[in-house]
Amino acid sequence: MVDRKMIKEIKVKTALSPSQLPGLDYALNPYRGCAHACIYCYAPSVIYWDKGKWGDLVEVKINLPRVLSKELRTKKKGVVGLGTVTDPYQPAEKKYEITRRCLELLQMHDFPVCIQTKSSLVLRDMDLLKRFSKIEVGITLTSHDDIVRQKLEPGAPAVQERLNALEELRKNGIDTWVFMGPVMPYITDVELLLNVIADVKPKYVLVDRLRLKEGIWDCVTDFLKKYDSQLINEYDRIFQKHGEYYGEVLELIKAGRESKYKNLPVKTWDVSGVVP
Ligand code: SF4
Repeated sequence: MVDRKMIKEIKVKTALSPSQLPGLDYALNPYRGCAHACIYCYAPSVIYWDKGKWGDLVEVKINLPRVLSKELRTKKKGVVGLGTVTDPYQPAEKKYEITRRCLELLQMHDFPVCIQTKSSLVLRDMDLLKRFSKIEVGITLTSHDDIVRQKLEPGAPAVQERLNALEELRKNGIDTWVFMGPVMPYITDVELLLNVIADVKPKYVLVDRLRLKEGIWDCVTDFLKKYDSQLINEYDRIFQKHGEYYGEVLELIKAGRESKYKNLPVKTWDVSGVVP
């Protein structure tokens, strides 16, 4: 997969940046651009991407470990979110190992780390993950159905591969969580996906709605034209005319607590906290 993408090596001046995300003090992103090419990705608007179609070019921060090494000598200890904008275990990581080298440094300085990825490549670094005094790995899932996954996240690993990775991490004593998002209206089967996730016993699941930041509406409608054009009107109702949908999803999740995933803590951005 990496061969079809254009890779460019770049140099950066800083490594850690302050993070506003809950529970994180710093953000660290070894790559700009992401070969997973998810149709709903809002990273381009976060980093003001102006280098063509998202997914076609990946910039590798080739000197990041060296810069991080210097920063870790002086920065106050805090939780580092690894992959807050782009995926730290996307295909380029197989060759470049920037994420791995950053993890080695963070472990050496005993910084707590929270990784977010869609890739089972994280298992490659199990030896390293096990040496941290505090680390957790979050894996993203948007559908239980791999046919849907291929359309939503064409460059990312299969659903089963991600579930296996969650299981393997947990068996090795690594804390795991699932980012279940974005919930795509009428596409993500929320109950079925929660049941599948419950089987691999993460510490918790964070459910998120689709966030239509700049430029994403066009990507989503292009996707819907191919997936099911009848859904375009429904998405228009929900996102352009502020129609109801996600409130019903929350109700569904609450009601489903009686079923298989009753012991699974489910949090959402919208109601912040565990759904009772
Ligand atoms: S894995 Fe994350 S960063 Fe990469 S394309 Fe998908 S949503 Fe964007």
